[in-house]
Amino acid sequence: MSEIEALLREELRGQPPYGAPQLDVPVQLNTNENAFAIPEDVAAVVAEFIGRELRGLNRYPDRDAVALRADLAAYLGHGLTADHVWAANGSNEILQQLLQAFGGPGRTVLGFMPSYSMHPLLARGTGTAFVDAGREDGYTLSPAYVARAIAAHDPDLVFLVSPNNPTGTALDPAVVEAAYEAARGVVVVDEAYAEFARDPGTTALRLLPGRRRLVVTRTLSKAFAFAGARVGYLAADPELVEKLLLVRLPYHLSSITQAAARGALACAAQLQAEVDELKHQRDRIVKHLRAKGLPVADSDANFVLVGGLTDAAAVWRLILDRGVLIRDVGLPGRLRVTAGTEEETTALLDAFEAAMTDRPEYFATDAEQIEQHSEESKLREPHRAHRPHHG
Ligand SMILES: *Cc1c(COP(=O)(O)O)cnc(C)c1O
Repeated sequence: MSEIEALLREELRGQPPYGAPQLDVPVQLNTNENAFAIPEDVAAVVAEFIGRELRGLNRYPDRDAVALRADLAAYLGHGLTADHVWAANGSNEILQQLLQAFGGPGRTVLGFMPSYSMHPLLARGTGTAFVDAGREDGYTLSPAYVARAIAAHDPDLVFLVSPNNPTGTALDPAVVEAAYEAARGVVVVDEAYAEFARDPGTTALRLLPGRRRLVVTRTLSKAFAFAGARVGYLAADPELVEKLLLVRLPYHLSSITQAAARGALACAAQLQAEVDELKHQRDRIVKHLRAKGLPVADSDANFVLVGGLTDAAAVWRLILDRGVLIRDVGLPGRLRVTAGTEEETTALLDAFEAAMTDRPEYFATDAEQIEQHSEESKLREPHRAHRPHHG
């Protein structure tokens, strides 16, 4: 062990940092970014908002980002006000602040993996123990399964993700209700992909009234095509929001970031049109690959989890060889693909088709698989009987 390694906190020793490969490939469909560049006229609005801040950069920004929070609340609707909303540099920072305030050494956060890979890393960074309760068959979650896992582990925080990454499917709101009933701690629903849901009514924002420990996190990174600007936010009870002021860095959100976000929010309706187009491309991927006999999870996000692969790493390489970068999320027999523009999506589907023709042995599309897929679809229905398993 090196001298530096020996000085490092024990739980960080030998750990790899977060790292999705950033390869220079023509078609990049691996990190669930919004495929569309910011439209020219939206960019002009954002530039105007930023421009107004430039001469005032000698001053610190509004520490509490009140104007931005009011705009975010107006965007969310559901009767929310600036007091219910908090903003930070990406929803990753929002989640980190939640862990700093309500987790920390000696405390636990319960998650249901496979899910967002940053959740365990943020837990580790804040000294919070991350407990993985796993999922049911077909990576689903039922209210009873979630309630039982919470009862078994008694966590200080619960992380749910809806629509889930990497599976793509939104949670039945009954799962969130059951988690809240079972938990004594803070229940966080990470809704980074909420705008892409097939039924936008599934949002947990609806459940906030009367649930003071419930938190819904959102981001401008996906639906607003604003990943580079780093803006995430949450909606929760005003008292819970106030507690986050205890852990945020003073002036954590630069005046340029606040202004840029307000500019993007002013163009929400226009950006929604591109969300609709990405949903269309997402549905196209689902339909096309299912028609090829591959089991594909229902998606409420801007990406799709493809199954039926006998060697996921080999298929990932075959697709990359055809100029399309997708994501190996480490699930056996599965790969995650982000919906792109129409041209990018066509390149993706062509690459799959070519790979299936060249190396059919990597694809399990026989009748047995298709049969199993329809079984999995059945298992995906909420409230079904379940087999508990942990890990
Ligand atoms: C992409 C993603 C985020 C976004 O994080 P930001 O820090 O807001 O860019 C959050 N949660 C999940 C599940 C994601 O997939």
